[in-house]
Amino acid sequence: MSYIIASTLEQAINNLKTSDGRAQVIAGATDLFLEEFPLELVDISSVPEILGISRSKGFLSIGAGVTHAETAASSVICSEAEALSEASLQVGSPQVRNMGTLGGNVISAAPAADAAVALVALVAKASLIDLDGSSREVFIEDLYTDYNRSSVDSKFEILLRFLIKPAQKGEGSAFLRFAPRAALALPLVNAAARVRLANDIIQEVRVVVAPSKPAPTRLLETEKLLHGAKPDLLTWQKIEYTASSEVEVRGSMLRCSEEYRRHLVGVLARRVLQRALVRARKVT
Ligand SMILES: Cc1cc2nc3c(=O)[nH]c(=O)nc-3n(C[C@H](O)[C@H](O)[C@H](O)COP(=O)(O)OP(=O)(O)OC[C@H]3O[C@@H](n4cnc5c(N)ncnc54)[C@H](O)[C@@H]3O)c2cc1C
Repeated sequence: MSYIIASTLEQAINNLKTSDGRAQVIAGATDLFLEEFPLELVDISSVPEILGISRSKGFLSIGAGVTHAETAASSVICSEAEALSEASLQVGSPQVRNMGTLGGNVISAAPAADAAVALVALVAKASLIDLDGSSREVFIEDLYTDYNRSSVDSKFEILLRFLIKPAQKGEGSAFLRFAPRAALALPLVNAAARVRLANDIIQEVRVVVAPSKPAPTRLLETEKLLHGAKPDLLTWQKIEYTASSEVEVRGSMLRCSEEYRRHLVGVLARRVLQRALVRARKVT
């Protein structure tokens, strides 16, 4: 087995190239499965191109190597992408948050990964580079191919950054999860929402929940009910009902029944939307 710490992007790419498909990149290494452990690991956690939070052409540019702890502590993320800040703060435990990165959270493609749910609600795009230096930008939800499978093969492609439109006047977002314990427990349901108001009318809305399909799932019927509505005139009971009726969820002997998860989706979707709306109104 070899473990190489790359200090530049060029080094990381060269190591992947020369390994001929045997080496794979890792960042925080909190999500590696021993049975699938590749023999050659290229640690990219110090590569400058995947670090830091900056602004670029009207977007917040967040490095794939930014940890959950850094995300939760960032004042920029906290004020301009609240849902992501709240999601990262609830991942695992302090140890997992100190090592685990946003990039690893998305590429692992776990169906209820907290940061990924928030990123989809925030309409985030991933910026990737392959071994020939060609780059592509993809919406997060389009990276998923199956449960725990993303279209990014970390032997041949590196996720560099996430691009998010920062919250403007009249916009707000939020994230909530329900888990059996406050720490070190995967959520039974998590939910994130982003809304944009103008003249107190909902102009844009996204509400995303998981675990449902392989990727974080938008509640399109619920979004339709909200679009063009005045928040004070909304019937929240109807929204809760629509959210829990339209979602595809599974139950399991170990976690909870399908009915309970469906109920949680309705409650969390309503609460997360209400929170995002309060924030959107505060900014106006
Ligand atoms: C005890 C425990 C509790 C956890 N609790 C939660 C939780 O509550 N919520 C939650 O969402 N997650 C949780 N996780 C999962 C995990 O910690 C996170 O998903 C974390 O963000 C993974 O990031 P990482 O940097 O450690 O990924 P790694 O383990 O380094 O990598 C994971 C995968 O992504 C690939 N990869 C990583 N970075 C890149 C990149 N930049 N480009 C290309 N490929 C890349 C790797 O090749 C690997 O396949 C938990 C994990 C543990 C061990």
